[in-house]
Amino acid sequence: MNTFPLEGGTGAIWKKVAKLLPERKQKYGPENAVMSLDKEGKIATLQSGQRVKYDALISTMPLDLTLQWLGKKEWADTLSRSSSHIVGLGIRGQCPHGLKCWLYFPEDDCPFYRTTVFSHYAPKNCPSADTKLPTLCLGDGKAVPDSQPEEGPFWSLMFEVSESRVKAVNNEVEDFAGGRWAGIVRECVQGALNTHLIAEEDQIVSLYHRRLEHGYPTPSLERDGAIAQALPWLRDAGIWSRGRFGSYKYEVGNQDHSLMLGVECADNVLFGSKELTLHHPNIVNAKKNTEILYSTPTFMSRANK
Ligand SMILES: Cc1cc2nc3c(=O)[nH]c(=O)nc-3n(C[C@H](O)[C@H](O)[C@H](O)COP(=O)(O)OP(=O)(O)OC[C@H]3O[C@@H](n4cnc5c(N)ncnc54)[C@H](O)[C@@H]3O)c2cc1C
Repeated sequence: MNTFPLEGGTGAIWKKVAKLLPERKQKYGPENAVMSLDKEGKIATLQSGQRVKYDALISTMPLDLTLQWLGKKEWADTLSRSSSHIVGLGIRGQCPHGLKCWLYFPEDDCPFYRTTVFSHYAPKNCPSADTKLPTLCLGDGKAVPDSQPEEGPFWSLMFEVSESRVKAVNNEVEDFAGGRWAGIVRECVQGALNTHLIAEEDQIVSLYHRRLEHGYPTPSLERDGAIAQALPWLRDAGIWSRGRFGSYKYEVGNQDHSLMLGVECADNVLFGSKELTLHHPNIVNAKKNTEILYSTPTFMSRANK
């Protein structure tokens, strides 16, 4: 059974979940970003200038930022994290990697720690074979001047590179493959060659780079102490900070965890029930959820009310 979205990547799952909820209650985009919080007055001010009064605020914004905003820099500074660079390559030809989905790279001849053969997840993750695209550069990074658009098929790789205060990444913008890219993009292409993911003569038809400031929450000796002070302090002010960076726990920071952090948080706001995922990672990570069943029909019928 194929359980990955045919189109739209992982984000398509959450867009479908959002469709189950009343549209009029949803707002996205930069103009709706929260720019400040008035903790005493319980007011969130949006980029648009709109002021939203709340009784209970469930916030997925990074806890370190919330704490800085609210004058608790000393707690914020004890939370560690890494940033993530996502680098994508589109390549002409048939994927040579069979059924491989994602691979880890502890070697020091490439900057990435993980690669995903993204085209393998769904055909629509790549343009159709009859799409005509020029070659940006070859697998060895050499430019291809005056390349004419040609048909596929195409396959793709997605690299993940971590950056932190103890691990620098080449962010220097430079000329590469007919465009201006951070140096890490060229280094990923070289790393793909070094690790035999691509060959020298491969034709690269597409490049992508995005840096996420908040990539991974890093567990540290100080973390539990900081969270144990910060989350109840915020909750007393009507702010439930939850999610991968909302509650900053790497061990319950994947998508499945983040969903349940939200579900259990909403139940806690409404009914005072316990938040198992937040407080007991060892329990939720060790067993299947067979007691509390959140099935789609229940969810839908609730959402439609
Ligand atoms: C490189 C990488 C690889 C990953 N791989 C996997 C994987 O293989 N499997 C898996 O399950 N998970 C994976 N994850 C984790 C997954 O992305 C997270 O579990 C999930 O996105 C967390 O959901 P969340 O809602 O807590 O946080 P986010 O998805 O980060 O959502 C937080 C939301 O808060 C919004 N926000 C922040 N500040 C404000 C503000 N001031 N005002 C308004 N809105 C704001 C943001 O716009 C965002 O929409 C990966 C993450 C990374 C970075």
